[in-house]
Amino acid sequence: MSETALRPSPISPTVDFEAEGVQHGFLRLPYSRDDSAWGSVMIPVTVVRNGEGPTALLTGGNHGDEYEGPIALFDLARSLKAEDVRGTVIIVPAMNYPAFLAGTRTSPIDKGNLNRSFPGRPDGTVTQKIADYFQRELLPRADIVLDFHSGGKTLDFLPFCAAHILPDKDQEARAFELVKAFSAPYSMKMLEIDAVGMYDTAAEEMGKVFITTELGGGGTATAKRAGIAKRGVMNMLRHAGLVAGRAETGPTTWLDMPDGDCFSFAEEEGLIEPAFDLGDEVREGAVLVRIYPTGRTGAAPREIRAKMSGILCARHFPGLVKAGDCVAVIAIVVD
Ligand SMILES: [Zn+2]
Repeated sequence: MSETALRPSPISPTVDFEAEGVQHGFLRLPYSRDDSAWGSVMIPVTVVRNGEGPTALLTGGNHGDEYEGPIALFDLARSLKAEDVRGTVIIVPAMNYPAFLAGTRTSPIDKGNLNRSFPGRPDGTVTQKIADYFQRELLPRADIVLDFHSGGKTLDFLPFCAAHILPDKDQEARAFELVKAFSAPYSMKMLEIDAVGMYDTAAEEMGKVFITTELGGGGTATAKRAGIAKRGVMNMLRHAGLVAGRAETGPTTWLDMPDGDCFSFAEEEGLIEPAFDLGDEVREGAVLVRIYPTGRTGAAPREIRAKMSGILCARHFPGLVKAGDCVAVIAIVVD
């Protein structure tokens, strides 16, 4: 089916993206169900518009158990004034709203992982309908796009802002300028393990300047990491000329994920003993984690060794692992 043959999105916004001023409303997605005949999913949205200028699209809660982005964006939505802005800022603090309300990575309605659901479908599941609305209605409006992530309940990350290596070097350079302006403690040239269906890819293929973050994880936020998110989004808006003033930048350490050797996965279940903490230097061949079989005492743990040297930038968060879980990610310091 060609794109022009797609039916309209079932989502109707209660805000007018062309109107001047501050509007708080919803992306209303019809979802008829047992406890609400003719009911809807009401995804909160704020639009702040003041005349001509670029449009920024700011999102959190793409995965429902990641909290730094929603904190920064609920705060920004209530505090950003029209007179502060030159252009348009669209804020959706909890993109996959059913997942956000449930505190889960994926939607409790259809198990949809929003960040693997692009370009979505207007006649698909609830999660596919949300993806389709961003793909066809919101992304085309945007010049710059920030999508906040962190590790959720199962991973924990060094706090970094990231962009991807892209075929269009001008688009890539502008994205890394925004990463620099965001000024997280770490800045990443990010490799995706599984880029198909991602919001990132959808935005980048439309030529948008796209940045993302991994600011922490474990299914919670900390004071420091929420502060990084709040400062970072304002820095990005200032750098893009949407908000007056200079970005409050600080030192950042640039990291690179050169290839798939960054990632280590468990091959059996068990009790995980980390041998390194986030930010620690790791040598190739060093034992990264030990996984103890839990069925009986007396058995040696399985050791997982680093396939490259670098620093530990992400780790499995819960104390028990299953086969296939990502247990560690190593990145290289590039400056
Ligand atoms: Zn995420």
